[in-house]
Amino acid sequence: MPKRVALALLLVAVTPIYAARRVVKPVPKVAAAPAGITVDTHADTPTQFLDHPFDLGALNTRGHFDYPRMKAGGLDAEFFAAYVPAKYANKGAAAFCLKIMETIHEMADACPTWVRFATSTAGIKAAVAGNRRAILIGIEGGHAIEDSLDVLRAFYRFGARYMTLTHTNTNNWADSSGDEPTHNGLTPFGKDVVLEMNRLGMLVDVSHVSDKTFYDVIEVSKAPVIASHSSSRALASAPRNMTDEMLAALSKNGGVAMVNFYPAFLSDEVAKASKAREEKLKPEIAALKAKDPSEGAVYEEGLRALMAANPLPKVSWTVIVDHIDHMVKVAGIDHVGIGSDFDGIPEVPEGMEDISKLPAIRAELKRRGYADDDVRKIMGENFMRVFGEVEKIAKELQTKEPAAAPVIPSAAK
Ligand SMILES: [Zn+2]
Repeated sequence: MPKRVALALLLVAVTPIYAARRVVKPVPKVAAAPAGITVDTHADTPTQFLDHPFDLGALNTRGHFDYPRMKAGGLDAEFFAAYVPAKYANKGAAAFCLKIMETIHEMADACPTWVRFATSTAGIKAAVAGNRRAILIGIEGGHAIEDSLDVLRAFYRFGARYMTLTHTNTNNWADSSGDEPTHNGLTPFGKDVVLEMNRLGMLVDVSHVSDKTFYDVIEVSKAPVIASHSSSRALASAPRNMTDEMLAALSKNGGVAMVNFYPAFLSDEVAKASKAREEKLKPEIAALKAKDPSEGAVYEEGLRALMAANPLPKVSWTVIVDHIDHMVKVAGIDHVGIGSDFDGIPEVPEGMEDISKLPAIRAELKRRGYADDDVRKIMGENFMRVFGEVEKIAKELQTKEPAAAPVIPSAAK
């Protein structure tokens, strides 16, 4: 179809009222700057959904995320975490991972007027072009693959596009920042996992790993890596936050670190109060567990009441931007993004109660003097660049001689 005819048809289609009244509006000479794709790389909504299914297409009073609030927040793409609790390690982790990934597919399929399931940068862009938002899968906890590269490959085929190598537990091939180190970083098999993720085009996620595991990953990975939800350790000392040295190494690797919104990862004052509260409430929490050993509704309600009666010091949402600011200073403007951890965090900063509040971050960055382009990078374009590079490198690795990149590395179990 000639371009002019197509354009005329399009104008008639999208402006029926104007067309009917024969009002001709001048076409702007300069196209508006592209808005950029906004991406949040970590939300635990599927875990909440498994426990308490709800209508994702309607405003929900529980939790931090639903599709109307996703739209209100101007969010184009969300990675739903396929979080596999440590209790499943060596005890049905892969089956649980499939269950939660299947749940994510169902969560996306249930609302076709709002979202599309996506597995690539092209899929995210297509969803946005079709006036939808994208839902993707990120696996949380490398124990999910049960020490099998075949399982890893199957998870990729099922739609998973990143995997945190560990959760708070050290697994059979990688040390966690939340557990005793037993491997001095990555084992030889752990290195094969990273290489196979590179070959598949699955983003290697260093959130939750120990510092040594992180440096091993940087050394081994053939593609840029991500930290899907990690803040700055210079500003808040949580061991799962990233030191300036780690941020500099990530920058050199070409990767991107996404700031986590959890107050205890943003502020040492909150972390200290949180620890003290945990200590103080130990007997009450133990009593709740005795009352409801499966940690069901009674336990949950009791815990909620306990936390409400013992509030932590408030931290303002602007602290998130302080972390972004610092990480940009250390790693550079091309290496920072956002990974809220919404629905996985029991507390939120004041003013950042849910995903609909994201525009505040955009506005605060502007207020602090960030250029439009830089704001777009932080809000998602940096992640899109890295995801695109990982896809490109995977294609290159897959076309190499099988001997140079064996499909099944010899160290695999
Ligand atoms: Zn996490």
